[in-house]
Amino acid sequence: MASPLESFWQYLITHFSDFQLATLGTFIIHESVFFLSGLPSIMFERLGLFSKFKIQKKNNPPAAHERCIARLVLYHTCVNLPVMIVSYPAFTFMGMKSSLPLPPWSVILSQILFYFILEDFVFYWGHRVLHTKWLYKHVHSIHHEYATPFGLTSEYAHPAEILFLGFATILGPALTGPHLFTLWLWMILRVLETVEAHSGYHFPWSPSNFLPLYGGADFHDYHHRLLYTKSGNYASTFVYMDWLFGTDQGYRKLKALKTDGKGSD
Ligand SMILES: [Zn+2]
Ligand SMILES: [Zn+2]
Repeated sequence: MASPLESFWQYLITHFSDFQLATLGTFIIHESVFFLSGLPSIMFERLGLFSKFKIQKKNNPPAAHERCIARLVLYHTCVNLPVMIVSYPAFTFMGMKSSLPLPPWSVILSQILFYFILEDFVFYWGHRVLHTKWLYKHVHSIHHEYATPFGLTSEYAHPAEILFLGFATILGPALTGPHLFTLWLWMILRVLETVEAHSGYHFPWSPSNFLPLYGGADFHDYHHRLLYTKSGNYASTFVYMDWLFGTDQGYRKLKALKTDGKGSD
């Protein structure tokens, strides 16, 4: 007997074409996950909730939240959606499928782990290049307009940077020709990860407290609050790239100081 997930999948592929699912379906899932996961940190900031766990004392004014949302809606509709439509033939060419049965979980999860590792590697080097003088001034400074990030700032960036982020996200799937279900799950996890990294809150239940090598909010918040030439912490998901290439020294020093100072403050 088909599982509820497979029955749901059967419903999708019966009622919608592969093109509709891969473009509009992907867009709708992305928008829903992104805005639903990103809105709580704005609410916490506005209502002063969980301030004990807020990484920076500074708060963004409501106008800054609204400006971010307005620009995101514009870019998502005018950049992300057209890119999804234009890249559809490339995905079918690379072997993406939507038929049943769904792949086994061992395949889904190992592909997604590979995508996370590859994306982190590509993002690290691309992000370091974005911190060179010209590219920072003309492209990456948009993302750094928010020195006190909140969840939705994760995708607040220059269109050229959105394309680079898209490339890093899609490279793994492009190499492996996954099932559409795997692609959607990867996108959902990647969105949740980057929204959490920009949330501005480090909770006792934050994933970086439990997942080894995972960066999370504390790690990426440091990248935003320091001057662009001094920040380091360039990786998107894990901490080992910055450790291997020595770009996390400032962050590690600060962590050591905080650990030493515990009890006195
Ligand atoms: Zn940066
Ligand atoms: Zn960021």
